[in-house]
Amino acid sequence: MSQAHDHYVVIGNPIEHSKSPAIHTQFALQTQQALSYERLLVPVDGFEGAIKDLIAKGVRGANVTLPFKLDAYQIATDLTPRAHAAGAVNTLKFEGDKILGDNTDGVGLVRDLVVNAGVSLQGSRILLLGAGGAARGVILPLLSELPAELVVANRTVQKAQDLLAHFHGHLVALAASSFEALSGEFDVVINATSASLSDSVPNISSSLLNKQSFAYDMMYGAKPTRFMQWASKQQSTVRDGLGMLIEQAAESFELWRGVRPDTAAVYTWLRSQLDQSS
Ligand code: NDP
Repeated sequence: MSQAHDHYVVIGNPIEHSKSPAIHTQFALQTQQALSYERLLVPVDGFEGAIKDLIAKGVRGANVTLPFKLDAYQIATDLTPRAHAAGAVNTLKFEGDKILGDNTDGVGLVRDLVVNAGVSLQGSRILLLGAGGAARGVILPLLSELPAELVVANRTVQKAQDLLAHFHGHLVALAASSFEALSGEFDVVINATSASLSDSVPNISSSLLNKQSFAYDMMYGAKPTRFMQWASKQQSTVRDGLGMLIEQAAESFELWRGVRPDTAAVYTWLRSQLDQSS
């Protein structure tokens, strides 16, 4: 058991709905780590000052969420390869003068798909919808699984093209597309758009999915999202992003504490909490 009581925060704006304190508190109890983890609301122009303040107070690390993932990338003095590829940081570790920046979103998604949901990505045809921060963070971890093809489609197609320009030199067929130009059937379709936040579905053809397809929405909630409902109508298997949220948190926890928590127990617990709140 760790003797010192170390402090961690999650920084964002807004931040009141973040589930990270609940997840990390469960991880700490489970692994007998003496730590506290709190939410920190920071003004949109106050990120750098907030980080300096945390370091001065001896805080050991931070998770970073909207709208500060690019600021966190800028402030890091050292980056993991996956944070470098993502161009965005969701985990900071403070070590003396060093600020290590990592991005655990992508590996969280891949672990949830491959380990928890049993989806085989190797040799598969993957469609990634969206070209915002979340999509950017998952591209390198998805490519590392060696799918046959990864197509990134976005409402604003130029953004998908700009995004893929950073990912040359992989052994995977890569393409950017508009929603309208998509064709064929995909083994895995990942919704990394924020369409579900406005209770809508990206405007793609239902012919892109079939009974064998796996449809994943990064959004999560007590009820299936609109995207999941839509994919269920094509008889595809569906899953929401709660597992990704917990897996990315576990990666951060391991980076900070050097121990890996049991994510399955926390998934079951958090899912029941969500169900009770509906
Ligand atoms: P961004 O704001 O960076 O990007 C939003 C993306 O959604 C853009 O590609 C945008 O397209 C697209 N979009 C928005 N509305 C629509 C719509 N009605 N139809 C089609 N496309 C739309 O958001 P993030 O990338 O940060 O987040 C995306 C989602 O991922 C959010 O729902 C977020 O909650 C979730 N997320 C989940 C995580 C988890 O752990 N489960 C982790 C991180 C994110 P355009 O470029 O054309 O505007």
